[in-house]
Amino acid sequence: MDLMEYQAKDLFAKHGVPVLPGSVAETSEQAHRIAEEIGGQVVVKAQVKTGGRGKAGGVKLAENPAEAQEKAQAILGMDIKGHTVHRVLVTQASDIAQEYYVSFLLDRANRTFLAMASVEGGVEIEQLAVERPEALAKIPVDPIAGVDAVKAAEIADAAGFGPDVRDQVVDVLQQLWTVFTAEDATLVEVNPLVKTPDGKVVALDGKVTLDENAEYRQPEHAAFEDKSAADPLEARAKEKNLNYVKLEGEVGVIGNGAGLVMSTLDVVAYAGEEFGGAKPANFLDIGGGASAEVMANGLEIILSDPDVKSVFVNVFGGITACDAVANGIVHAFELLDSRGDEITKPLVVRLDGNNADKGRQILDEANLPLLERVDTMDGAARRAAELAAAK
Ligand code: GDP
Ligand code: MN
Repeated sequence: MDLMEYQAKDLFAKHGVPVLPGSVAETSEQAHRIAEEIGGQVVVKAQVKTGGRGKAGGVKLAENPAEAQEKAQAILGMDIKGHTVHRVLVTQASDIAQEYYVSFLLDRANRTFLAMASVEGGVEIEQLAVERPEALAKIPVDPIAGVDAVKAAEIADAAGFGPDVRDQVVDVLQQLWTVFTAEDATLVEVNPLVKTPDGKVVALDGKVTLDENAEYRQPEHAAFEDKSAADPLEARAKEKNLNYVKLEGEVGVIGNGAGLVMSTLDVVAYAGEEFGGAKPANFLDIGGGASAEVMANGLEIILSDPDVKSVFVNVFGGITACDAVANGIVHAFELLDSRGDEITKPLVVRLDGNNADKGRQILDEANLPLLERVDTMDGAARRAAELAAAK
């Protein structure tokens, strides 16, 4: 999960990385109030999960609260590389004597952590890496040894930080490493890290990517999630622990196993060409177990999607055999019925694999409304696309 700058800076502050005081605002009036509290010159900064905000006009200096309000008004609602600005950070402004760059990241290709640092910060780092690679120091970091004062000095010296800031940078690097490890990040980046005219080193920008695999031991990170940005169906699916991704089309898709579901998307899109370009409406993998409850939750999400016109349930019985899945589907219908969720869209079910005959028999005997059984994947995809197009 990528964090916004204000969230990254909250983590910086928590671990002692020097940042300037500031708060986030969702309205220009709030921006006015924050600027008043801070006093003096402030910077109003678009909070979107993309870089280059400065160049796009999303970072503006303001001399007083009225001007901060004006700048916030202009930035809120702005589109920056396809991201709409819903929040601005209003933060104390700083004069800049020099701009630096520092980061820690997970270097997947080399199976290690990597520190990067440069005394030529401020510009986009990708550009610096291409145009002046010698100006960007890259130092591998052993995850067990970590970053102590000696390692931090090695990084600072490789980048060529002068004696005026070396000690401060050595401290900042250790603090950032603490952010990286204590918060389970895969990226911690400061661009620019600046030297002020009076010689202080401060993080003026911050970028943090958190490792979602560590969510279970980072309960506080749930608060960072931007619920307003997420698709409401995806948010509901996540609450129910379903592996769901909303797509553009009209054929709802449920399958057991990510690989099967992915190929189902292809088969539906291919079959849909014959029927006015019907496409899959979602990805939903209910996994190996396929219990009635999981099936019911999955169906509920898909059926509540107004774009969905038909549903294709594609199951290949493996360890969980088809009869168990068929019982799951039958019970899912009962569950939905008892919750008051009426099934109003046609379902096409394909069961194959382990105990397919038994599973098909269970479905036939249940005689479920709006459910059709088609025994091949291609045939079922075609029928589901046809039903979607007919609606
Ligand atoms: P980015 O463009 O998305 O990376 O946003 P940054 O937070 O890095 O801001 C872009 C640029 O705005 C920085 O490189 C600085 O040059 C400038 N900037 C940001 N904050 C301040 C500030 O407090 N004072 C001054 N003078 N410039 C700032
Ligand atoms: Mn930046």
